Amino acid sequence: MEYYSSHISKLIEELGRLPGIGPKSAQRLAFHIVNMPPEQVEALSASIREAKANVRYCRICCTLTDQEICPICSNPSRDQKKIMVVENSRDLAAYEKTGKYDGVYHVLHGAISPMLGIGPDDIRLKELMQRLQGDVEEVIIATNSSLEGETTAMYISKLIKPTGIRVTRIASGVPVGGDLEYIDEVTLLRALEGRVEL
Ligand code: ZN
Repeated sequence: MEYYSSHISKLIEELGRLPGIGPKSAQRLAFHIVNMPPEQVEALSASIREAKANVRYCRICCTLTDQEICPICSNPSRDQKKIMVVENSRDLAAYEKTGKYDGVYHVLHGAISPMLGIGPDDIRLKELMQRLQGDVEEVIIATNSSLEGETTAMYISKLIKPTGIRVTRIASGVPVGGDLEYIDEVTLLRALEGRVEL
């Protein structure tokens, strides 16, 4: 039985597909949207369409960007020989906010998780290995300290070791299971400065 108009039900269904949005939140958002002024709804839907149409992956580091090569990779004052590997663009943003990291990044867009069936080929690892054929001195692995993050860190370090490139892991101090983006800048910097050789 339909409790609402079929349009509202459809909207609730679509919103409910978003991460972190349960059925109750989806319902609340749907009713909020329906009550918004038309121009505000138009602005929201246009921004979703435009983001989807115009955002792409940087050809070098795979982060989300508007250009072919992101502003960090194309910045000549960044140390291109130092690559920090992060799980997603939000983690990159967290480190950028500290303003203290002068290297570049590599965004994996995920982490290896045997439980969820996510293997090495499902994240941007191949792209990282290709970059290492260039002039690289250090790879800093800054994946989360979750089980998936640690699994990914171990996998990457094993892959890189034979190349002779220095591999480091950000220090613990980042709480276990903690998402990087929620950790304050001081903790992030301490983790970066206290990184250890793998
Ligand atoms: Zn880039």
